[in-house]
Amino acid sequence: MVGPNAAGILADNAPTMATGASPFDELVTANRILAREGVVDAFGHVSLRHPGHPDRFCLSRARAPECIEPGDIMQFGLDGAALDAGGRKPYAERFIHAAIYEARPDVLAVVHNHSPAVIPFGITGTPLRPVMHMCASMGVEVPVWDSRTHFGDTNLLVTAMPMARDLAASLGTRSVALMRGHGCVVAGGSLREVVFNSIYLQLNAELQQRAAALGPVTFLSDGEVAAILRTRSSFTFERAWEYWCQRAGRPYDERPMEGPLAR
Ligand code: MN
Repeated sequence: MVGPNAAGILADNAPTMATGASPFDELVTANRILAREGVVDAFGHVSLRHPGHPDRFCLSRARAPECIEPGDIMQFGLDGAALDAGGRKPYAERFIHAAIYEARPDVLAVVHNHSPAVIPFGITGTPLRPVMHMCASMGVEVPVWDSRTHFGDTNLLVTAMPMARDLAASLGTRSVALMRGHGCVVAGGSLREVVFNSIYLQLNAELQQRAAALGPVTFLSDGEVAAILRTRSSFTFERAWEYWCQRAGRPYDERPMEGPLAR
């Protein structure tokens, strides 16, 4: 379904890509990949800081990621206010994205998900830590944000800026924060990066649980995590993105659309 303002929005955004795929197409692809890989189900979302307007971000209307089309993409200010709703219903938790973009000028894309593999690490006190080289992006310490600490008993949904800013403060300069009894956030410099990190965060959670059932776990050392992140290039994200596009039935646009080319 195409929203009432979709034509105007797409006209505004389409020329930014030299290679054919618009930012909205890429955001749709990110949604479809996360759904295909089981990181999101009917819930969870991914956003992109607007390439031409850094004080805005792009996020679908409230819809399951598997179903999202370019006409569903809306624009928001960094206070979470919809700029072009046109009757479309936004996600109640869009404030998560708003507060992270507000706090982190380096962040160009954000994922919020309820990955079942990740949830146990937010509710047991057992830290989620990298056990495998592909999963080093979470860093050596993954914080757990508990909404109850400052907001008491709530329905756990982050539906206003004060809660979202508290979550963003817990994230700090990191790429991942867990949300107790809810899910997690993954922030980064491009859609490819946050999709990659979300999928490998989920894999690490599965592997860590499996390994812990066998015996004491040897985690990556702080030095190993630093070395992996220092030597990783954008090609890693590209190679994975092409593979996931194929699996999700989405066209692959070879050039990264935003973020540093060499990371
Ligand atoms: Mn949520």
